[in-house]
Amino acid sequence: MENQILFADLGLSDEVMQAVTEMGFVAPSPIQAESIPHLLEGRDVIGQAQTGTGKTAAFGIPLIDIIDPNEKVVQSLILCPTRELAVQVSEELRRLAKFKRGVWITAIYGGDSYERQNRDLRKGCQIVVGTPGRVMDHIERGSLRLDHVKYMVLDEADEMLDMGFREDIESVLADCPEDRQTVFFSATMPKPIMDLTKRYQKNPQLVKVTKNEVTNANIEQSWYAVRPDAKFEAMCRLIDFHQIKLMLVFSNQKARVDEIVEQFQMRGYAAEGLHGDMRQAARTQVMSKFRGGTTQILVATDVAARGIDVDDVEAVFNYDVPMDSEYYVHRIGRTGRAGKSGKAFTLAAGAEKYRIRDIQNYTKVEITRGKLPTFADVFAI
Ligand code: ADP
Ligand code: MG
Repeated sequence: MENQILFADLGLSDEVMQAVTEMGFVAPSPIQAESIPHLLEGRDVIGQAQTGTGKTAAFGIPLIDIIDPNEKVVQSLILCPTRELAVQVSEELRRLAKFKRGVWITAIYGGDSYERQNRDLRKGCQIVVGTPGRVMDHIERGSLRLDHVKYMVLDEADEMLDMGFREDIESVLADCPEDRQTVFFSATMPKPIMDLTKRYQKNPQLVKVTKNEVTNANIEQSWYAVRPDAKFEAMCRLIDFHQIKLMLVFSNQKARVDEIVEQFQMRGYAAEGLHGDMRQAARTQVMSKFRGGTTQILVATDVAARGIDVDDVEAVFNYDVPMDSEYYVHRIGRTGRAGKSGKAFTLAAGAEKYRIRDIQNYTKVEITRGKLPTFADVFAI
């Protein structure tokens, strides 16, 4: 074990210490322990760590200390790739700011009414968490001004670039004052991100917490060879056999998400779907039902599920083998978070099994070929 660093060693304000304690955080995670001191000193940071390692609090804890509650202007902008993530990050920041009076945080994202967002912005919010497209809209409409921004964060930077937000991001960065702190957080640091950091950061401190494996060792990974028309049945058997209560199911196609949800509902499972064709209100409702435990199975596409952090997800199912090995890592990273254990099941039909090999080569971790439980196994439970 490394020398254990405590939050109390980081020189945080009493207000933030109280919040962190109430959130049940005992010690900072490695990415937090390494990046918070640089951020409190005012340095630019590039933070790289796997999903589920606490990157939100790594930039959020210093942020709450840096904000001046008496200045009713936007002092910090956090860009996130998706609406769900913007909401999630704003909620975590609100918990961190609970004991610091006068700090206002808002989330602005597409698919939601401009009225509520305008009202929050006019009210003097100091922290804005938003998706790049909607942030650009507000800047163009004059409802969001960045001339007092002193702490700018690009969260899940790799995903934002993958999603084609590069131009928006650059134009937002160009709108912020030169004299600001710029923070990049990402699970991977491909070249396009390093290029951006060179252009928009000043002498950044690189904080990299990676293991040799890109996947988390707490996740038990297995795959099953099945006929395409038997995937659903195979999945139900695995769910019943392992008595899984809370899980995410990934499919490569939006239409298939709807089909899978329908099949689950017909079999009496509490399942809901999440994909990009749904209206924002429906997506928000699905997420809150899943967070609250009313929905046990969330079926989603890759884009819709990016960065989603729900506690206690016991298992991730790859109903389809993802086309891209990086997606596999992102998907299974939804379980086994914050030191808990998790299971990842992958169903491969026909030629999909060749992609399992590619994924193993990429992650350098074996995905065990499993045997499906029989009907008798399931009944014996
Ligand atoms: P990442 O952005 O790296 O994927 P998140 O910031 O979403 O990870 O954090 C994952 C989970 O871990 C969240 O539920 C968060 O509240 C929790 N968490 C973060 N930091 C700590 C900590 N120091 N101790 C315990 N839990 C933590
Ligand atoms: Mg994150």
